[in-house]
Amino acid sequence: MRLDPRTGWCLGVRHCPSANFNARPDGEISLLVIHNISLPPGQFGTGKVQEFFQNRLVVDEHPYFAGIAEMRVSAHFLIERDGAVTQFVSCQDRAWHAGVSCFAGRENCNDFSIGIELEGTDELPFSDAQYRVLVELTRQLQAAYPAIGLDRICGHSDIAPGRKTDPGPCFDWARYRAALLDKE
Ligand SMILES: [Zn+2]
Repeated sequence: MRLDPRTGWCLGVRHCPSANFNARPDGEISLLVIHNISLPPGQFGTGKVQEFFQNRLVVDEHPYFAGIAEMRVSAHFLIERDGAVTQFVSCQDRAWHAGVSCFAGRENCNDFSIGIELEGTDELPFSDAQYRVLVELTRQLQAAYPAIGLDRICGHSDIAPGRKTDPGPCFDWARYRAALLDKE
């Protein structure tokens, strides 16, 4: 994969453009937020996260969908269990992943952040493929947007405490950070 900083789209990954984005108010990209999601919760490889971010979720398909189908949300990227990457929104644009949030005293983290969803739950370890691809993608993002330092990578639960729990206790921050520091 290769991120084109001119367009904000990553080459060599699947593109599923979402309508759920708008312009960043001042163009700043200086924070990376890690999430987890699965639809229905705990089921993987269903394609429903893609449908959700494209406002195509069919309410009748699962009881859980009724409560979320009308939500207008997105993330920049989804990394599935097998390491497959899908991009929904250009990094240049503001995806709608963080909601009410605050990082280092600044609210509305969507304004200045990139959101990566790992397919998963709070209860299950993530896959080796997901860590490998997450590190590769993070490096691309850090190269394009140098303001995303190691100290500016956080979890959704860090910027929305009490409201959000993802990526959850099974996400191995030490493994992720060590891999980012490893110059291979
Ligand atoms: Zn989240």
